[in-house]
Amino acid sequence: MKSIKNEASVCCPNRCEEFDVEYWSLISADQDPDLKTAALGGELNLVQCPQCGAMFHHDGDLIYFDAPAELLVFVFSEKNRAQEKELRVKMQRDYEIIKNTLVKQLHIDFPPVCVFGLEALKHLLEHEEKNSFESEAVAASAAAAGFNVVRLKPSYAREHHFPYYVPAPQKGHTPNDYAVAASKVLKSGLKSPLLLNFKDQMSQEGVATPLFI
Ligand SMILES: [Zn+2]
Repeated sequence: MKSIKNEASVCCPNRCEEFDVEYWSLISADQDPDLKTAALGGELNLVQCPQCGAMFHHDGDLIYFDAPAELLVFVFSEKNRAQEKELRVKMQRDYEIIKNTLVKQLHIDFPPVCVFGLEALKHLLEHEEKNSFESEAVAASAAAAGFNVVRLKPSYAREHHFPYYVPAPQKGHTPNDYAVAASKVLKSGLKSPLLLNFKDQMSQEGVATPLFI
């Protein structure tokens, strides 16, 4: 799926005359990594008033989609926060359309999330980055400790606060086997709250086997 630009008339915060801008309304992060960088840097949909020169963000709705990361974010305008309930209904409807038509071939099987404003998107992506770095450290430590590394289903890992990569058990495939493998990697000196949480959850009675890609 390609990223899409839209046009809109905007008013600058200094109440100058309205002017037209182009802004990103759909971001396909794996196709356009520059747009992900812009969102992280706070430069996404940043516009400048031609009259007074003020820089400000165009606060329009947009969709942020990262297919490999299984991340679909509906970013609603900050000023519509009071309508969250209605917007969540709209999001669900739009999600079905996206899932069943636009990107049918991707077989999306993960739920969307919604945030209000570009600042909230930035925070969400920063959190993602942090978890990705931590997951890479888990993968490196697991490999160094002699384990094979397996990739959890990203949306499942995100939902449960697990790392994106975990050590594969040296024998067995039960949740407890995963807990034992995680425990060994943690004992090697790795500090990872995500892996610690994975180990704790996998040690629970009756927990389901983790989901993999
Ligand atoms: Zn202005």
